[in-house]
Amino acid sequence: MGAGDYYEVLGISRTADDKEIKKAYRNLARKYHPDVCKEPGAEEKFKEINEAYSVLSDSQKKSQYDNLGHTNFTNASKGQYSGAGGPHAGGFSADFSGFGDIFDFFGGSYGGSRGPRGPQSGNDVLMRMQISLEEAVAGTDKEVQLMHNEPCSACNGTGSETKKLHTCKRCNGSGQLQQMSQTVFGQFVRMTTCNECMGRGRVPEKKCPECKGSGHNRVKRTLSVHFPAGIDTGMRLRMEGYGEAGDTGAPSGDLFIEVHVRAHSRFVRTGDTLETTLEITPAQAVLGSSETIETIDNKHVDLSIPAGVQHNTALKIPGEGVKRRGKPGDLLVRLKIVIPKSVPPEQREFYQKILEAEGKRAGNPKKGIFSGLRGKK
Ligand SMILES: [Zn+2]
Ligand SMILES: [Zn+2]
Repeated sequence: MGAGDYYEVLGISRTADDKEIKKAYRNLARKYHPDVCKEPGAEEKFKEINEAYSVLSDSQKKSQYDNLGHTNFTNASKGQYSGAGGPHAGGFSADFSGFGDIFDFFGGSYGGSRGPRGPQSGNDVLMRMQISLEEAVAGTDKEVQLMHNEPCSACNGTGSETKKLHTCKRCNGSGQLQQMSQTVFGQFVRMTTCNECMGRGRVPEKKCPECKGSGHNRVKRTLSVHFPAGIDTGMRLRMEGYGEAGDTGAPSGDLFIEVHVRAHSRFVRTGDTLETTLEITPAQAVLGSSETIETIDNKHVDLSIPAGVQHNTALKIPGEGVKRRGKPGDLLVRLKIVIPKSVPPEQREFYQKILEAEGKRAGNPKKGIFSGLRGKK
């Protein structure tokens, strides 16, 4: 799909609220609906409008879109099968996935409760995946194993060996059966889904032996999935058309991959900022010092610690945080001034001199508060 920036497609500002988004969508969708607009390119435009609206009207998708940017977001939604074979090697077409919405306000009875329910789209599939913090920070590509239904190649997904379908005799093609039931309150008519055609209204002329008439086969696939830099726990990647196969003529569902980023031993992430801890000595804090910091992508960066730095100060290394959208976050180095529990004799002399210079009295190490506490145990 060649849609540009979704806000531009709908002609709204980035700060537009739900109402403005919906209004812009309705106006444009009315104008470009293929049944109404005969301009060349109207159908393409209509799809773009639907695609933009399907993202911006969903608060979760919208925040992902705002965070990742257009290119990353749309790339994340598109995967490719690796390996050959299968009727859909080389990618699914899911061009009509946005059409469902539009029938709401065009007064159609698409998928309504009367008459045959029509071809049903496939179900969405949700998968959860863990990635490391390194992978989330830099972005990564991963192979994902997936089991899902695909249209049967033997019968083109019709479920019929001859690829022909007949109107269901049981329900006369309505897809529904009337059930009369007699109760103390009177006679009731209940509508149920026809169990002969499963509500489709049509049955295979001759059941396909390959898929036993279902039109689908369960297959295992390996997908190559792109996790864009900056992805975080709870975000979902949408792989259009990689869910379960729908009825013949209806689109497949989507595959959603929910991401969980594993905790890291050295780095803690807050948004695009990474934080790590560095222990320094009192002398380093007083005089200033220089240390080498290893970044999350194993680079070595010199960090200069200013003289007189206080405990718990965070020093910033710009650009070494999460590598998102061309504007990477920062790395914070939180300083912990660690007081040595014991010092070798030559250092002890220096500390004593400092103490004298400060005009403070030396304590008796045998009688200090710590030895008192120790004695109680
Ligand atoms: Zn039927
Ligand atoms: Zn088949």
